[in-house]
Amino acid sequence: MAARPLPYLEGLNPAQRAAVEALEGPVLLLAGAGTGKTRALTTRIAHLLMQGKARPGQILAVTFTNKAAREMKDRIARLLGETVEGMPWLGTFHSISVKILRRHAELIGNGDLHLKPSFTILDTDDQIRLMKQLIQAENLDEKRWPARQLAGLIDGWKNRCLTPANLPRGESAAFDGWGGKLYAAYQDRLLTLNAVDFGDLLMHCVTLFQAHPDVLRGWQDRFRYILVDEYQDTNVAQYMWLRLLAQGHRNICCVGDDDQSIYGWRGAEVGNILRFEKDFPGAQVIRLEQNYRSTPQILAAASGLIATNQGRLGKTLWTDAEPGEPVRLIGHWDSEAEARWIGEEIEAFHGGHRASVGRTSLNDIAILVRASHQMRAFEDRFMSIGLPYRVIGGPRFYERAEIRDAMAYFRLAVSPADDLAFERIANTPKRGLGEKGLQAIQAMARARGLSLLEGTVAALTAGDLSGKAAANMRQFTESMGRWHADALDDRVNHVELAERILDESGYTAMWQNDKSPDAPGRLDNLKELVKALEEFENLQGFLEHVALVMDRDEGEAAEQVSIMTLHAAKGLEFPIVFLPGWEDGLFPSQRAMDENGTKGLEEERRLAYVGITRAERLATISFAGNRRLYGQWQSSLPSRFVDELPPEHVEVLTPPGLYGGGYGAAMAFAGGGPVNALHERAAKADVYNSPGWKRMQQRASERKAPVHRTPVVIDAEPAARFAVGDRV
Ligand code: ATP
Ligand code: MG
Repeated sequence: MAARPLPYLEGLNPAQRAAVEALEGPVLLLAGAGTGKTRALTTRIAHLLMQGKARPGQILAVTFTNKAAREMKDRIARLLGETVEGMPWLGTFHSISVKILRRHAELIGNGDLHLKPSFTILDTDDQIRLMKQLIQAENLDEKRWPARQLAGLIDGWKNRCLTPANLPRGESAAFDGWGGKLYAAYQDRLLTLNAVDFGDLLMHCVTLFQAHPDVLRGWQDRFRYILVDEYQDTNVAQYMWLRLLAQGHRNICCVGDDDQSIYGWRGAEVGNILRFEKDFPGAQVIRLEQNYRSTPQILAAASGLIATNQGRLGKTLWTDAEPGEPVRLIGHWDSEAEARWIGEEIEAFHGGHRASVGRTSLNDIAILVRASHQMRAFEDRFMSIGLPYRVIGGPRFYERAEIRDAMAYFRLAVSPADDLAFERIANTPKRGLGEKGLQAIQAMARARGLSLLEGTVAALTAGDLSGKAAANMRQFTESMGRWHADALDDRVNHVELAERILDESGYTAMWQNDKSPDAPGRLDNLKELVKALEEFENLQGFLEHVALVMDRDEGEAAEQVSIMTLHAAKGLEFPIVFLPGWEDGLFPSQRAMDENGTKGLEEERRLAYVGITRAERLATISFAGNRRLYGQWQSSLPSRFVDELPPEHVEVLTPPGLYGGGYGAAMAFAGGGPVNALHERAAKADVYNSPGWKRMQQRASERKAPVHRTPVVIDAEPAARFAVGDRV
């Protein structure tokens, strides 16, 4: 009997097919960028469902970003059509952990303190504020013991699943002996607030599984098939989480690429991928070699760059795609010029003025930056020329003050014990609650073991607040009580409730009465926030989403350029990619350059590899000779990674109009030769007297940019090239 044809398997190559069809037992799919790992993983889920191996709820699929999870959901839905009901457990480690933890929150605790299912998820800002308070409570000097540093320490411990109880003594002595103590105090404080931070989501799950074998067994039985994308970036906690769950049915399929491991700084262990076969004896290892994403030039440039790294597993990659354009390289005077040029390029692509690529949708264009501060130049520029863009994976929108305030109102309405939210908004808008009033409330709350909201009621009864503050705070607590009841009431529409909260609290009015120029924008943002709520079932779901995703609502605007960090771009692809800011000190980062050894540099290089391999048709790398970093102008040299690109696959562009278009110096790539060679050659030339240098000096002083001592302008060549000199 002939087997029924399975349309979703068609078009896969034999290795991909093998990865899809090896359903039982552990499988590791190890392959380079764009070889169809994610596609194989997605097809595997479809295959599991179509073969009746599992119901959707019995499949657990872990992706690295929420965006990736959404895309995978869409793809599966497309593969399966209407044939299967329900969806697998598909999400990030964090979002799946939240779901698990909500069901067992009461089992997480310390002594009498327990989590409740309605727990809030704190973001970094809240986390830091909390730690500040704890540091102050111990009378430590905040300047010597910055909360940020403690936060980093605690995050690191959580990534390794070290609870206060099992923290090795040596580590507990960090922070001048205070580390362990502050960590324990912080964890207790979180429990009191009925809150968790990001690191807790994983760690609590693991400790839950370890302490309650029955609970673990339940989840092991449930998840018959486990699939993990971007496995190279799992940290210890995630690894333990996976191993515990996979020990049940042992049907675990991990896909990854050691060359794309870019989260070492956050505790990811590329070793996990190398250890897979040991951990799961009898594992099948499948490799893929054909790249389906990029042109040969893009692939060659990326492969040439990554070849500098030591200790790789090493992979062959090939493509039978049509040849395209070489990777383009261009230098600019400063980051503004860089943003301006990229804006013009995008308009040209969009307007169809590039014959080689044809008219391009803005959705097909991405700008990938090393550091998020680079985004500002692009955002400013694009706003001023009206080029629609979105920032992906960034906390930008939700980090705005008015959004944070509004969210604090929602958080308090959902979870009245959320003292951090209370502190943020108790006197916003002004209710006459001064430092003294707040202290009275805090004292009352502490004395009676109450939340600050309850403490306010008690303080009012005791007459601790007076005058305007008393009247206003009474109204505030009464309103909050009402909103809380409404938040719990399924019959109340949460979008209307949110709007009502902002109106009744006087928060909207505060901005309406504000005469500052940015007030209208803030009101628009609040509207946008309420609009974003519509996609969710209730306020809690929304708060969870924001805490987890911080993805800006993508809205309906038909076409937008995407701006994101290289880290956020992992797993994604775009026909046209711009890679700005390739300068030593920015990319690779100064931290990586200052480090002993090559570990940090190699990770930066992998990040560059991830960046280039996002491009399907055209990649453009750029650098600026001057950049304002933290308010200071600095001049810089092109990234050493520029030198490592294979010259035969790179085309060097000359900035249009040396000075006319405002494009200044900074071009330092001699016809494909190494940057430093040109730099030296040019430095020897007598350029101080050249008209080009004089113009450059003038230009620099007009812009208040630093003047360079060794200008290295080669004016004689037809297409004048420049290199950046040392800072005076
Ligand atoms: P990365 O390492 O960047 O995550 P990946 O290995 O996960 O990449 P995918 O994103 O799955 O790669 O695939 C890259 C592109 O190649 C996608 O557009 C995908 O649809 C396409 N592709 C994958 N396999 C095939 C195939 N057999 N035939 C045609 N196109 C394919
Ligand atoms: Mg992928």
